[in-house]
Amino acid sequence: MLVFVLNAGSSSLKYQLINAETSELKASGLVERIGIDGILKHEVGENKKLTFELPIPTHKEAIELVLRILTNDETKVIDSIKEIQAIGHRVVHGGEYFKKSVLIDDDVVKKIENLIPLAPLHNPAHVLGIKICQELMPNVPNVATFDTAFHQTMPEENFLYAVPYGDYTEHHLRKYGFHGTSHYYVSNEAVKILNKKDSKIIVCHLGNGSSVCAVRDGKSISTSMGLTPLEGLIMGTRCGDIDAGVIPYLMEKKGLDTHQIINYLNKKSGILGVSGISSDLREVIKASNDGDKRSKITIEMLCSRIKKYLCSYAGLMHGVDAICFTAGIGENSDLIREKVCNGLDFMGIELDTEKNSIRKSGIREISKKTSKTKIYIIPTNEELVIAKDTFDLVKKK
Ligand code: AMP
Repeated sequence: MLVFVLNAGSSSLKYQLINAETSELKASGLVERIGIDGILKHEVGENKKLTFELPIPTHKEAIELVLRILTNDETKVIDSIKEIQAIGHRVVHGGEYFKKSVLIDDDVVKKIENLIPLAPLHNPAHVLGIKICQELMPNVPNVATFDTAFHQTMPEENFLYAVPYGDYTEHHLRKYGFHGTSHYYVSNEAVKILNKKDSKIIVCHLGNGSSVCAVRDGKSISTSMGLTPLEGLIMGTRCGDIDAGVIPYLMEKKGLDTHQIINYLNKKSGILGVSGISSDLREVIKASNDGDKRSKITIEMLCSRIKKYLCSYAGLMHGVDAICFTAGIGENSDLIREKVCNGLDFMGIELDTEKNSIRKSGIREISKKTSKTKIYIIPTNEELVIAKDTFDLVKKK
């Protein structure tokens, strides 16, 4: 079954065309700057990479363009869009409504819309993406896969904030967690390798957005992101955990309103804010190697925070069978992995620095033979999870 996987953002669209039965990736791409000017980067296989720069005023035109490119002579991977048998949508916020992927109907769309106050940047774009697909491919079933769904197994003690309980019951204030599809995929791959049912796994999804997740017996029991993706680790431009008292203090000192302070903590902080160099960790590592002090402290802060979560989750689960690193930083930075694992031998976490420094694709074990806890690099594949969930739901229907 050919599944079109769509991740619609406010001014961008990511897509993949996947054969869900064989896991074969037929084509993938990214449309950016929708409504500004427009750029489409399309990939077929390993070698064929194409870039198109042309005006793309709306999301509808973006999706129409992608569908044309998938079926166009030069770039074609399918003869007709009729070959697309299902569409899988990545949806950031499913609130407490959705504990797993679902076939989309009017009620599902309404619920995703109801959650807009909790994900004002993401959910409106997802609804738009769904509605356009329903219009352009009217007989094709649509499925939604939620970033929050995997974390719905968290127990109350790990998802409640210590504010009056009524804020949870009346205003839905709680930790939801994000990156759930990635945490599910990576922890599930680790479970397969460990071949152990009662497993204790910690997934470190370290990318531009980052989060850690404690997964016991295949279920998320705690994660570092919260009501919004701002909580937890230090990220590209997000501050992660801070004292709530920082907010009124900064608002007063800098004369910021609510919108401006949230923007400040989401877009101007984190790796970018501390280093003053970039949100891209590669550039910060380079500057640190060249002697830049602020870049050095940024890297130390980043790793210290990851280590804090790692150790607290190991404690929460009474041990850890495997630590998995994934996403841009987790998969590619031996420096960060080494700093995070350094000194944890006392807990049975022993990194093999030589294996850690070897650059290879695919799943790799990077712990020492003597390490009680296995350490893995597991490349994430959220789109494959979406395609497979879509296939399963459509097949059942
Ligand atoms: P993602 O959001 O998963 O695409 O990850 C993006 C982040 O990964 C950016 O901060 C990149 O700087 C970082 N990244 C990618 N490759 C490397 C690398 N070799 N070393 C350090 N950071 C990297």
